[in-house]
This record gives sequence, structure tokens and C-alpha cells, in this order.
Amino acid sequence: MVLILMGPPGCGKGTQGKRLEERYSIPQLAMGDMLREAVRNETPVGKRAKSYMDRGALGPDDLIIEVMRERMGREDCAKGFILDGFPRTLAQAEALGGLLGDLNKKITAVINLDVADEEVVKRLAGRRSCKSCGAAYHVAFSPPKINGVCDKCGKELIQRSDDNENTVRQRLSVYREQTAPLISFYDRMGLLKNVQGTGTIDEIFRSVCSLIDKETGR
Ligand code: AMP
Repeated sequence: MVLILMGPPGCGKGTQGKRLEERYSIPQLAMGDMLREAVRNETPVGKRAKSYMDRGALGPDDLIIEVMRERMGREDCAKGFILDGFPRTLAQAEALGGLLGDLNKKITAVINLDVADEEVVKRLAGRRSCKSCGAAYHVAFSPPKINGVCDKCGKELIQRSDDNENTVRQRLSVYREQTAPLISFYDRMGLLKNVQGTGTIDEIFRSVCSLIDKETGR
């Protein structure tokens, strides 16, 4: 099974992807997480991606496609995977077709989580995550018990450097210009499933799962 999660930054791709990973026992391949790890480890990929990420722009297609090619080829991807934050351009979507062909796989469904711009800004400005275990919080919607401290492991909570209002607005405009056209690209291929991205995490998860189960006959 190959699932693609689409939607603007802050639409809940990461959160839903984690849940889908557990339910369907296939890994979530989150491009943003892979790039942040590369930046932290100062790898050649990280060094090249950093300046784009800092200003809310998209990294170069050739780099991103290469990172994905390498990741998809690993053993844990044999039964399928969930793509979160890839593809984000038409060139990446076209390259994905080739990568999947090489692996003898096909896209099962493209889930588009729909959330309005103002809601995105509110969500991302309050988003925090644990420096150590990655658990996600929101200062207003799902705060930790102790301010700034992870409930699960007691380590410090941090804010992503690109979650400030200016960079979020820049990321949104990049999304509208470069990524939103993929919605009609996948719709024309008959793969697109639209899901309302507002509501509780559980409600959205139920909608997403019922669409996938219908598609796969589970
Ligand atoms: P995310 O965590 O998905 O919001 O991604 C964070 C940042 O990583 C983006 O703002 C981009 O700079 C970069 N990035 C993530 N995925 C891609 C992609 N598919 N293509 C280009 N840049 C990406």
C-alpha cells in the first residue's frame, strides 16, 4: 500500500501519518523530518537543504528526489509506505511515478487534508515538539502538563525555527503556488480523496481510515 498525504503545512499530515503507520504497519516517510535530521547531523544533504528550509522555500527537486529514492529502497518499505510532505512539486510527482515503477508499486490513494490559511497560522504558531522523543503538542489545543516539558519523557519542548508567522505565511504561499496544483494532477488520475482537516484528531483519522479501507477492500 502506498499512501500520499497532501495538504498545506499544519494540516495534520504528520499527526495522521503517525497514526496510519501504526494502523497499517507501514512506515511514514516524512520528508521534512528526514531533512531536519540531515541538517542536525550536518550531512551533505542537510548542508544543501538548510538555507531553503530556513526561509520557507522548497529544496531543489533533484536533491529531494534522491533522498526519497534512497529511503524507499530500504527493507522496511517492502510492504508499502506513507508519504508525508512528498511530492511537493509537479517534477517530484512525475519522478515519484518512476520511483514506484522501479519498485513495482502503485499509489493506493492520495489523501488531501483541507484546512484554511488562518487556521494553519494559528496551529503552527502554537506548535511545539519534544527535543528528545518528538512528541507533538500545541500551547492552546493540546498543552503539556508542565509548560515547556514533555509529558512522555520529561525533556524540553522546542518550537521549529520555521514555525514563526512570517515563515509560515511564506510556506503557505509556496504551497499554493507549487504544491496545490498536484491536487488536480492526482484528481485527474482518479486517486484523490478529500478530507476535511478540521475537527478532532480522532474524527479526521476515522474519515481517513474509512476512505483507505473502502479503497483497499479491508
Ligand atoms: P515540513 O516538515 O513538511 O513542513 O517541511 C519543512 C521544510 O522542508 C519545507 O518548508 C521545505 O523547506 C523542506 N521540504 C520538505 N519536503 C520537501 C519537498 N518535498 N520538496 C522540497 N522541500 C521540502
